[in-house]
Amino acid sequence: MTNTAENAYKLAHHYVREAKGAAKTKTCRFCGGSAQQWAYDGLDENAVTIAHRTFSENTGHYFPACLSCHKRYDIAVRRGGRDALPAVVALLCAEGEQRYTAEQRALFAAQAERQTLLAERHRGH
Ligand SMILES: [Zn+2]
Repeated sequence: MTNTAENAYKLAHHYVREAKGAAKTKTCRFCGGSAQQWAYDGLDENAVTIAHRTFSENTGHYFPACLSCHKRYDIAVRRGGRDALPAVVALLCAEGEQRYTAEQRALFAAQAERQTLLAERHRGH
């Protein structure tokens, strides 16, 4: 990847973080585990593709995800395009549902909440 492409990609993710906070302050959209990254949903009409990497400059097109769900989502988007997305979302949600118990999910939500409070305190709110 060229420096320009790398910078554009990093900048887009920087804006997401700025607008929505760190991914670790959220739980994964699919499995409810701790989110580690912001994932692009693949649905932006004005998505930018630079050096084989497609991303959105619109922060509304990102959702929190764990590494495992993010990877599988990206692969599905690459293979099937946006037409495959409803089925992919349904599959990942169904599998995510099986991954953790309700107690574990509540714990992840509490951890995310705690990260949010720590981040706010860090910013001086
Ligand atoms: Zn997940």
